Amino acid sequence: MTIQTFLKNAVADAIPYLIELRRHLHTIPELGFKLYKTSAFIKSELEKYGYNPLTGIAETGIIADLKFPQPGRCLLIRADMDGLPVQEATGLAFASIHPGCMHACGHDGHSAMVLATAKIMAELAASPLGRGLKGSIRFLFQPAEEAPGGALPMIDAGVLTGVHYCLATHIWPQVPEGSIGIKAGPLMAATDRFKITLTGKGGHSSQPHLCNDVLSALAELALILPREAGRNMNPALPGVLSICHVQAGHTYNVMPQAGELSGCTRGFHPEVYRNWEREISRITAGIAAAYGVEYKINYMPGHGAVNNDPAITALVAEAAALVVPPEHIIEPQLSLAGEDFACFQEKVPGCLFFLGAGSEHSQALHSPCFSFNESILGKGCQIFCQAVLKILAAG
Ligand SMILES: [Zn+2]
Ligand SMILES: [Zn+2]
Repeated sequence: MTIQTFLKNAVADAIPYLIELRRHLHTIPELGFKLYKTSAFIKSELEKYGYNPLTGIAETGIIADLKFPQPGRCLLIRADMDGLPVQEATGLAFASIHPGCMHACGHDGHSAMVLATAKIMAELAASPLGRGLKGSIRFLFQPAEEAPGGALPMIDAGVLTGVHYCLATHIWPQVPEGSIGIKAGPLMAATDRFKITLTGKGGHSSQPHLCNDVLSALAELALILPREAGRNMNPALPGVLSICHVQAGHTYNVMPQAGELSGCTRGFHPEVYRNWEREISRITAGIAAAYGVEYKINYMPGHGAVNNDPAITALVAEAAALVVPPEHIIEPQLSLAGEDFACFQEKVPGCLFFLGAGSEHSQALHSPCFSFNESILGKGCQIFCQAVLKILAAG
């Protein structure tokens, strides 16, 4: 038997198990760093395959290492494990049993695929076919991808020590089901958050001349910031600033003395995403001066852009070509959504590919009705397995 036949058979055999894993994880979504049930389940599965997982990294993160017989480089395969604060409305038989919490971003599928890959790779390493394989794999299960970001605290805890490359996938409704979206260079956006507070003199609604019109200043800012903040940036480079929350005042006849707005910025290129703060400061200072109010800006930088290394991405494309027909490997559109896999890519070269989940019935990620056809899980798992061989063989 060749390694190729071994992998094909192993993934085909693992499909019912993959679905079982996904469904179990889907029933128990948890939020942020508090992934106690999820993490305990993943740990126990890894132990069944013979791993000795390290747990409790960044509270509930896990790593498990697999060494092939020959020395070589180390590839990290990352899954995110967290759900979203969404009340599930899919009506699925295996819907969430946790009220107000749902796997609406496919992270149940990501964890299932990485678990099955860990199982199959452990079997391969233990078989005579695995004797010539070199290097090692670090399987990583990360909390808090959605918020507030679990990649960075795991990196701070040392999970990238000895790691040379990184790999991940995201289930993606904008890529057709059965297809794989692969693109070198920027793919998903850098995202930052900000909050602006304006303060002035409040007072009686009949005496605006004795007050500062904090509310008008805030309204002006909410209108002008999304329009103007990008005007000093190269229009050939995409980026977006959105204001998503505005709050001021409590009643109809009191001019408020304070108000705040908050939003986020996105971009792919440092020339864009490193300049949002400067532009927000410039415009806010101007509006505040015009209205005679004080301002405070709290700008909270997030992660960078998902930026795929060309060499690793080419190897992942070769791996995908062994799994799906060439016409099903497509270059996806850039997404202005963020993904904190970017934090790993800032340290070691890597690739995040999109696993197509789009069909006429598919719902958007984060929708209370989001789900996907489980037939895609086998493809993702097989691409992981093939990519391991390609990347580690390349050295
Ligand atoms: Zn998400
Ligand atoms: Zn996600």
